[in-house]
Amino acid sequence: MNQISELFGSKVFNDRVMQARLPEETYRAVRRTVEEGKPLDVNVAQTVADAMKDWAVEQGATHFTHWFQPMTGITAEKHDSFISPGDADGVIMEFSGKELLKGESDASSFPSGGLRTTFEARGYTAWDPTSYAFIKDNTLCIPTAFCAYNGECLDKKTPLLRSMEAISRQACRILRLFGDEETKRVTPTVGAEQEYFLIDKDMYEKRRDLVFTGRTLFGAKPPKGQELDDHYFGTIRPRVLAFMKDLDAELWKLGVLAKTEHNEAAPSQHELAPVFTSVNTATDHNQLTMELMKKVAEKHGMVCLLHEKPFRGVNGSGKHNNWSLSTNRGENLLNPGKAPQENKRFLLFLAAIIKAVDEYQDLLRLSVATAGNDHRLGAAEAPPAIISVFLGDELGAVLDAIEAEKVYDEQERQMMAVGVRVLPAFAKDTTDRNRTSPMAFTGNKFEFRMLGSGASIAEANIILNTIVADALAAFADVLEVSKNLEQDVTDLIRDTYKAHKRIVFNGDNYAQEWEDEAAVRGLLNLRTTPEALPYLISEKNLRLFTRHHIFTREELCSRYEIQTEEYCKTLHIEAQTMLEMVLRTILPSMERYAKTVTEGFMLRQKIVSGGEGTKARIEKLYSIIDTLYEKTADLKELLRETEKMGAGQKAAVFYKDFVCRCMDEIRKAADEGEQITAAEYWPFPTYAEMLFR
Ligand code: ADP
Ligand code: MG
Repeated sequence: MNQISELFGSKVFNDRVMQARLPEETYRAVRRTVEEGKPLDVNVAQTVADAMKDWAVEQGATHFTHWFQPMTGITAEKHDSFISPGDADGVIMEFSGKELLKGESDASSFPSGGLRTTFEARGYTAWDPTSYAFIKDNTLCIPTAFCAYNGECLDKKTPLLRSMEAISRQACRILRLFGDEETKRVTPTVGAEQEYFLIDKDMYEKRRDLVFTGRTLFGAKPPKGQELDDHYFGTIRPRVLAFMKDLDAELWKLGVLAKTEHNEAAPSQHELAPVFTSVNTATDHNQLTMELMKKVAEKHGMVCLLHEKPFRGVNGSGKHNNWSLSTNRGENLLNPGKAPQENKRFLLFLAAIIKAVDEYQDLLRLSVATAGNDHRLGAAEAPPAIISVFLGDELGAVLDAIEAEKVYDEQERQMMAVGVRVLPAFAKDTTDRNRTSPMAFTGNKFEFRMLGSGASIAEANIILNTIVADALAAFADVLEVSKNLEQDVTDLIRDTYKAHKRIVFNGDNYAQEWEDEAAVRGLLNLRTTPEALPYLISEKNLRLFTRHHIFTREELCSRYEIQTEEYCKTLHIEAQTMLEMVLRTILPSMERYAKTVTEGFMLRQKIVSGGEGTKARIEKLYSIIDTLYEKTADLKELLRETEKMGAGQKAAVFYKDFVCRCMDEIRKAADEGEQITAAEYWPFPTYAEMLFR
């Protein structure tokens, strides 16, 4: 245990290190920046830079990098060494306050969606002191925001920080109404549970689809799948256990509080849950977690797959984004209180969330829209593409009671008022039913469950923070001018619930009946990425983001462009990979095998008659071979057409409607081929080999 506490955060320039190594004044200036968002003086930055460098060099670091999160969804680094020429041919280790605060980066190598024209290709990175610097691979990594030279954001960090500002501002307005004068900041807290697959490295390398696209484009269903449910929470194999131990140690060094690890529903699938922290840090930590999962797996001769749906017919991987709001005094605002005042406040925040989720279903849906996640949502293994909120029976009953108060009956009114005085303690719902909800209240937080496993959690949280900030702002506008606060709060909770109740659903989200009912309720059902993305730039949403200074119009349009392009590119790469695999490995293998069988059959015909079974197999083989030739020619033609379209909305829809369908047909034929081709001829490892070895 002692060892672990020594290990924990040992590679992080955290509060403890800062307190020990910075002069009192400097330390306090940094804290002020972190807690109150006060800008940092260059002289202070110099002192911090010196201390950071000394600490990092002591830890064996030779380089530093501004670590940032461009729109690619992964992190980027540009390493510089600390070395500067010193006196008399020597070198000294240097790191200036300026280098800490700001770095230059060539923005043209990152997606910018038209924001960056070539003559202003420079971008810069700016230190984010609210996330600790850390050491990775002998490099001091400094978390930064990444912007174009004229200040437009090119990353996921900047809007996330802006959305944190927005929600803090609005939540504090509400707290003031309840007499809280002390809280200075309200911070969204997030714990992101991460699912992943581990497979053998040798097998991975034999699958070009996994190498190029992260998912299998072929593979017949194995004789045994997850139907026995024997993997979930089952014993963990020794090799995987060794990986998990190693991963934990690496994460702990970086201050990531990895806590529970267990097997997931699918074979070879696992999950890691961290202890929650501020959304900014949680976002950084989730990136580090994904990066380290891949690295550590390699060390153990395995590959970590973070794709949302690596194997068809087997559950995919997601992320559960547990989200709540905490004051700088450590109070969880989504904790139903014991005293009447706290209950009202809790219900008001709850009402704001219900309103936000209903009004901005489109944004929540598109915050998790990627080509990979399209395979998962609505496939009865993850929530459907329809957004709804699960409150549980108890909380639902409380809100129903409040709603019923509209009856102008003094007696009943009184009774209800008393009825909600003290809310029951909400037991954490662990029923299976609630696991199907996209957005479930789980006692003192919401669990947003639609996120894909491979993507950054930034988007979803930018949206969550912004839409809840917006609802809180609307509430504050009303209540700040109220003459009868007590009554108006109750009215607001009731009216909001009444107006947005359609978004509340406590039943089975996987059931067809829900899809039908949701349509009757008028809820959106945006099944695919190309259907969801255009909502990003609807007038309603443009206004929301500009109102709270999260994105300018230009920034938002550029993001829409980038995401649409990314979708098209992903499908293009998948289609190309598919063509290559069919034409260069599957067809040649099947043809060789068909030839062998045919030769055997003909030889036999010379001696004995019969052999109907063999003949049927030959016919089937050649019919599949013909289908594959025909369909790959179709796919090539479709890809030629996409080239004329560019990578905008039109192309995205074309990929979804035509390219995807053609790819499905090719897969179907190839998977059939796999099942009648001798194992030794099949050119790459099958599902059974990958998942059950
Ligand atoms: P389950 O596995 O049933 O979903 P857990 O109790 O294991 O639930 O917690 C899930 C995640 O929720 C953990 O990552 C935990 O840190 C996180 N979490 C708990 N409380 C909060 C909170 N107030 N804010 C954000 N995340 C939280
Ligand atoms: Mg969970």
